[in-house]
Amino acid sequence: MDSGVIHGAEALVRWRHEGKLISPAEFIPLAEDSGLIIPLGTWVLETAVRQAAAWQAAGKHLTISVNISSRQFALPNLDTMVRAMLHDSSLEPDKLYFEITESVLMADMHNAQHILEKLRAEGIRFFLDDFGTGYSSLSYLKRLPIDGLKIDRSFVRDLDTDPDSQAIARAIVSLANTLNLSIVAEGVETQAQRALLSSMGTMLLQGYLASPPVEAEIFENLLARPSLLHHRSETFGLA
Ligand code: MN
Repeated sequence: MDSGVIHGAEALVRWRHEGKLISPAEFIPLAEDSGLIIPLGTWVLETAVRQAAAWQAAGKHLTISVNISSRQFALPNLDTMVRAMLHDSSLEPDKLYFEITESVLMADMHNAQHILEKLRAEGIRFFLDDFGTGYSSLSYLKRLPIDGLKIDRSFVRDLDTDPDSQAIARAIVSLANTLNLSIVAEGVETQAQRALLSSMGTMLLQGYLASPPVEAEIFENLLARPSLLHHRSETFGLA
């Protein structure tokens, strides 16, 4: 925190069609309905792993986070696929984080535990995405091999104006500390938010304050720009 060091990136997919960017809010639901989310998810994962492996080969210490959809999570061969990708790319497994939402876990708790344990055995880390907006069930935090929580952006957004958001963020931080989980704050955009989060404890910050989502080459330029250290926080991802 406040070290100014870039910790890693979150892989986000964008679709450029005839020169225009189509919002993921538009095409992800379509991909989900049509089943295309499965090949798309595989492509994103593969691309992210390849990118992280390239960074690793260049001596950069960066993690990559990949959002795993429920359809992907339910794939019977997910662990085999991940193992093959890690093997082919030589990426160290602890560089790869999977972001899953609570609803993915809650859909089938028993199966979820099994899948997480199999992937955990490969060395993958798990972060609960958008924490605080779903069920926030405490029992699965205890039972499942989760490594960290991502504080939902809706609590970060109003941090400096809304005491309730602040109380919730503080509660999530204290919960995570007690359970020995890492914390990432999503959607950090202002120095005021950064200062408040810093006062709550150690965590990684993600959001526009560090950088808007950018392409890999631009991200690499960010790594090389020492001037950023003066005004940016440690960032976990690109957005
Ligand atoms: Mn995410």
